[in-house]
Amino acid sequence: MRGAFDVAIVGSGFAGSLLALVARRLGRSVVLLEKGSHPRFAIGESTSPLANLLLEELATRYGLPRIRPLAKWGSWRRAYPEVGCGLKRGFSFFHHAEGRPFADAPDRRDQLLVGASPNDEVADTHWYRPEFDHFLLKEAEEAGAQYVDRTTLSGVTREKDRWILTGERAGAGFTFEASFLVDASGRSGALHDALGVRRSVPLVPPTQGLFTHFEGVRRLDEMGVPGGPGIPPYPVDDAAVHHVFPGGWIWVLRFHNGVTSAGVAASDAFAETASLSLGETAWRRLLDRFPTIREQFEGARRTVPFVHSPRLAFRVDCAAGPGWALLPSAAAFADPLLSTGFPLALLGMHRLAEALEKDFGTPRFDTRLAAYGAITLEEADRAARLVAALYGALGDFPLFVELSKLYFAAAHFSESARRAGRPDLAGTFLCGSHPEFGPALDACCRAALAPRDARGRERLLADVARSVALVDLAGLLDTSRRNWFEAAANDMRRAFV
Ligand SMILES: Cc1cc2nc3c(=O)[nH]c(=O)nc-3n(C[C@H](O)[C@H](O)[C@H](O)COP(=O)(O)OP(=O)(O)OC[C@H]3O[C@@H](n4cnc5c(N)ncnc54)[C@H](O)[C@@H]3O)c2cc1C
Repeated sequence: MRGAFDVAIVGSGFAGSLLALVARRLGRSVVLLEKGSHPRFAIGESTSPLANLLLEELATRYGLPRIRPLAKWGSWRRAYPEVGCGLKRGFSFFHHAEGRPFADAPDRRDQLLVGASPNDEVADTHWYRPEFDHFLLKEAEEAGAQYVDRTTLSGVTREKDRWILTGERAGAGFTFEASFLVDASGRSGALHDALGVRRSVPLVPPTQGLFTHFEGVRRLDEMGVPGGPGIPPYPVDDAAVHHVFPGGWIWVLRFHNGVTSAGVAASDAFAETASLSLGETAWRRLLDRFPTIREQFEGARRTVPFVHSPRLAFRVDCAAGPGWALLPSAAAFADPLLSTGFPLALLGMHRLAEALEKDFGTPRFDTRLAAYGAITLEEADRAARLVAALYGALGDFPLFVELSKLYFAAAHFSESARRAGRPDLAGTFLCGSHPEFGPALDACCRAALAPRDARGRERLLADVARSVALVDLAGLLDTSRRNWFEAAANDMRRAFV
C-alpha cells in the first residue's frame, strides 16, 4: 500500500474522523490510520452546550448537513435512531457521606442541579461512542478519506516538508506520504516519540479511574432522590450524574439503548485505599461505602470489562510544530469532571480547519500551527487548574458548589456569546481571554489550592462570587434558587443583542 496525501491523521476516534471529514470538504486528500477497528468501546461520552454548539458550527461552516442533527437530542433521534445516544438535560451533583444514605436538606446543601437545555428537543447528549465514532468514520470514508484500520505504524520521518509514514497491515507493508500530520490518537499519543514531544507535569493532582458500561442501573428519581419539596429543573437522571464524596466522584450516564456508562475518578490516595486496580471487586467495595449509590447499582450487570486507568491526567510540553499538530485530546487531559474533553477537542478542530481552509500550502500555515499549539496547552491548563481546585474541595461540598459555578458561568457565557454572533466576547475556553474573568478565574483556582483558615475560606467564597458575577447570565448567584438552576435559554439575548 502506497499513497501521497495532503493530510495524514493517526487515530479514528470521533475527533480524527471528524477532522478527516472536514479536511475532505475543504478539498484536501486524507489518509486516516487506525490501529484497531470499529465499532469499539471508547470512554468520554458526555457533551455540553458549548460542545454541541461547536459541532453545529463546524457542520454549518463546512457543509456537513448529515452531521448537524447530531448536535441535539431531538434531531439526532429522528435522523439516526440506530446510533446510540443519551439525553443530557444538565449536570446533576449529589454529595455523599460514607455509610449514610443521601438525604435532602432544606437548603439543598448536598446537591447541585444545573440545567443545560430548556427541553428534550434541543438537549445535549451522551455519545454512545461505539456507534457514534463508527458513524463519523463512515461519513469520512464516504467523503473520500482513505481509511486503513488494524495498522501498526513503525516509522514516521520527515523528508523535505513531507512526512513519510511506514508500517504494516495484515502482514503487508504500507508507505504513506503527507504534508500535514495529525496525532488524533487521544491519550495513546501515538506520535509523541516520533515528533519529539515529551510528557510534562499536568496541573491536576494525580488521579486514577475505573469504569465500564452496565445494564440495569436504576434511576435516582425512581428511588426518591433528590427528594424534598419542589420539582427539579429537569429529570435528574437525564443528565450527567456526579456522585461526589471526599477523595473522588462517580459518574453515571444513561444511553437510550439501556446501557449506562459509569465509573469513578479519585485521587491517588483514595484510589490506593479503595484498591481501584482490582477492578470489579474494588467497584463493589466502593459502592458498599455509599448506600444510595449501592442501591442505584443493585441488580446492574456490566456489559464490557472494567478498565482501570492508573493515571487519568496527562499533558505534553508542545502541541504543534512545522507540519504537525496534536489534537487537544492527544495533548492533555485533566478529568471527566466537567465534560471539558469534547469542547476542547472541538475548539481545536475549528482552529485546524480554519488553518487548512485559509493557509494550507503557504508559509502562514506553520505560523497558525504554532499559535494553535500554544492556545491548546493554555486552554488545557486552565481546565486543569479548575479541576484541581474542585478536587481540593471534594471534602467541602458547599465550596465545591461555588467553585463549580466558575465553570458554569464561563461555559454559559461563551455559549451565549457565540449564539449571539459575538464569539469575540467568548474568546478562549472558560472565558480565559475575558480581560477581567480570565485572571479572576486563575486567581480563584490558585487560592482554592492554597492552605487557608475559616476566614481565608470566607474570602475565597467572596472572590469566587465576585468572579462569577463578571460573566453570570444564569442567575448562579441567586441563593433563593437553593442550588437548582434552570437552563436560562433567553438570557443571552438580553445580554448581547
Ligand atoms: C475516564 C474518562 C472519561 C471521560 N469523560 C469525558 C466526558 O464525559 N466528556 C468529555 O467531553 N470528555 C471526556 N473524556 C475525554 C474524552 O475521552 C476525549 O476527549 C475523547 O475521547 C477524545 O477523542 P479522540 O477521538 O481524540 O480520541 P480517542 O477516542 O481516544 O480515539 C483515539 C483513536 O486512536 C487510535 N489509536 C491509538 N493509538 C494508535 C496508533 N498507534 N495508530 C493508529 N491509531 C491509534 C485508537 O484506537 C482510537 O480509535 C473522558 C476521558 C476519560 C479518560
